[in-house]
Amino acid sequence: MKKLKLSLLLSIVAFAAIFVACNSEDTVAPSNETNAITPEIASKLQAAYFETSSAKVTTFMGEKGVAVEDMFFTFDQIDELGKGSQIPNTEHYRTTNLVTGLPRVIKVSVSPDLGSLGSNALDKTIVMLNNLGAQLTFQRVAFGGRGSKKADIEVTEFYELESGGFITLGRAAGFPTRRGNPAKGFGINSRWFELSIAPTSSELAGTMAHEIGHCIGFRHTDYKTRESCGQNVNEGSAGVGAIHIAGTPTGSDATSIMQSCGPAITFNNNDKNAMLTLY
Ligand SMILES: [Zn+2]
Repeated sequence: MKKLKLSLLLSIVAFAAIFVACNSEDTVAPSNETNAITPEIASKLQAAYFETSSAKVTTFMGEKGVAVEDMFFTFDQIDELGKGSQIPNTEHYRTTNLVTGLPRVIKVSVSPDLGSLGSNALDKTIVMLNNLGAQLTFQRVAFGGRGSKKADIEVTEFYELESGGFITLGRAAGFPTRRGNPAKGFGINSRWFELSIAPTSSELAGTMAHEIGHCIGFRHTDYKTRESCGQNVNEGSAGVGAIHIAGTPTGSDATSIMQSCGPAITFNNNDKNAMLTLY
């Protein structure tokens, strides 16, 4: 999920549009649910450099698991997060598992619940991704297809109120699987469409590109600090599931589309290099 910091967004509309691109802070749990994560789950997520202060147990895309930052993981996926990775020390990171079988076309669909805005945005996202020139390319298919027509990545709608000063814009259903397939999809929070900071199709496309980035294995470029969300979090030294991508910066990369809270809605050169290095 991406998140927006509402205090900034509501007071400074132009700045809000910036945040739309890539917010990834955590959501705050609704008060009427018993959805706290256990200390064991928290430590596993923290070991993989996730910021867990707003992590919660929830159901997403038909499965029960944990929402943390702009991600959703089943409990099995959480157990997989740390395997086979190494301690990170720079800015562009990937997960241990990647999409395999290159060159490969990834089919993507979007729920009609996201309307023409969602449909137009996904088309823009696919153009953005395919223009990178990687061996992993993307193709629009109809929503709800089965068998060979089934999307590899489905974009669905969810509705979640803002909480704790943030709104979650999108939420990705994990990272690539051990079998080398992308995560099965991500959600877009239609609550965002009701606010004064409602996205343009380009802003929504940027968020979709960010969430697809997670589905194919990209971590947040500021995952160590959450600096783009106005935070300075240090999760300690037990880095797992975050592997530096060769050829990307070792310093801050404020214009990367994979920053936790934006502001980018387009790929910068480092994002492009990261994509071409992996795919
Ligand atoms: Zn994210």
